[in-house]
Amino acid sequence: MSRSVPVVPAIGCGLLALVLTACGGVHGTPGGSGVRDPYFPKAGNGGYDVTHYDLDLAYDPDDRHLTGTAEITARAGKDLSAFDLDLKGMDVERVTVEGERARWSRNGQEVVVRPRDELDKGETFRLTVRYSGIPQTITDPDGSEEGWLPTADGALALGEPTGSMAWFPGNHHPSDKASYDIAVTVPEGLQVVSNGEPTERTTDGGRTTFHWRTAEPMASYVATLAIGDYDIRRSSVPGAAGSALPVYTAVAPSQARSSREVLARLPEIVEWAEYNFGPFPFSSTGAIVARENASAYALETQNRPVFPGAPGTELLVHELAHQWFGNSVTPESWQDMWLNEGFATYAEWLWQEDNGGDSAQETFDALYDHGEDEYEDLWSFPPAKPTSAAHISGDPVYQRGAMVLHKIRQAVGDDTFYDIVQGWTAEHRHGNADTGDFTEHVEKTAPDEDFTSVWEDWLYGEGKPEQP
Ligand code: ZN
Repeated sequence: MSRSVPVVPAIGCGLLALVLTACGGVHGTPGGSGVRDPYFPKAGNGGYDVTHYDLDLAYDPDDRHLTGTAEITARAGKDLSAFDLDLKGMDVERVTVEGERARWSRNGQEVVVRPRDELDKGETFRLTVRYSGIPQTITDPDGSEEGWLPTADGALALGEPTGSMAWFPGNHHPSDKASYDIAVTVPEGLQVVSNGEPTERTTDGGRTTFHWRTAEPMASYVATLAIGDYDIRRSSVPGAAGSALPVYTAVAPSQARSSREVLARLPEIVEWAEYNFGPFPFSSTGAIVARENASAYALETQNRPVFPGAPGTELLVHELAHQWFGNSVTPESWQDMWLNEGFATYAEWLWQEDNGGDSAQETFDALYDHGEDEYEDLWSFPPAKPTSAAHISGDPVYQRGAMVLHKIRQAVGDDTFYDIVQGWTAEHRHGNADTGDFTEHVEKTAPDEDFTSVWEDWLYGEGKPEQP
């Protein structure tokens, strides 16, 4: 009762802020455990924005043990008494904020951090988390496995939609992009491949440390690590911007023969994509071909997509197209997935059209007439409104998403269509965008056209749209 008044200085204002409205100098509140994503309410965290991750990791494939220090630079979006990080599994050993030890607690995938001093709105702060353990393989809502995937000679880290919280603490939502420095120490003889470009490599006492730097903003779901025996090659693509674009490929020895031909086409695909979508958005490209079945899915990991085994040409086109659609222009929330998958699928259709295969119109017509034979759930929900988190990677998101783009192209013709596409990648380069931003952009670029039925029937409408 009245005893609480004299003990105020002893227990500090931070605790009392929860129950008192006025406490000398305390204004902050907790940041919150999510960013209100409609499909993943606990993904990401409120109240701050990460600008940089500096990850210093060591991995031993024999006992699958990972130790890490994550140094995170972030900016407070409001006065904060506490904030969350997302981390699944792993033991947290120590947390500091601005160099001072901070208290923390765990609650499911949330690490709730209470800094000794409150953070002020607008303040840039540095946070370090020391952690270790055996990183988990996470089963995502659609049943596929991601996160940390051990292989016979190393591991593969993949994170769409929520796997990256298995190997580093952070603000794991696509709306918070950041630059990265990733260093990984492994037994000598193994390779580590990640996003961005390699900076240095040192070997000491039988262990090698690889450093990779990603200077351009990256969403954490496209961060990757490939640890193991890889054949690394460097080359370059001439590049539309006039300067050569470095290419780094890493191929598991078992996949060398089967991937040689398709990887030889990578420069041609990147040039084709630059011609259609605009300049390549990042400072290097490439591919990682892991052993077969190393993962359940291919992923457009930034700069260089990961494939479980040698990809076909169309899959390589798909994942490279994601560098523009998904990685540079990133969805605001997981509801906007069709902006990634619809575009990457439509890129496949365009590639086929330009390379002696079916025209996009023929692909569209075949899907419209009997797509449900191949894709059972094709008409089961609209691309912009998946039924649940388990459906964000469903066929309507990919195929019907591509059909939406084709309907736009049908309405405006090729010249305006490519203006729309290139305007989109230029306007939102290295940013985030949602479905409303897209429809607005289309309407602005083709002001004389009426897109009502494309949006109402194809993008948001239930069931199979009628065609004239
Ligand atoms: Zn895709």
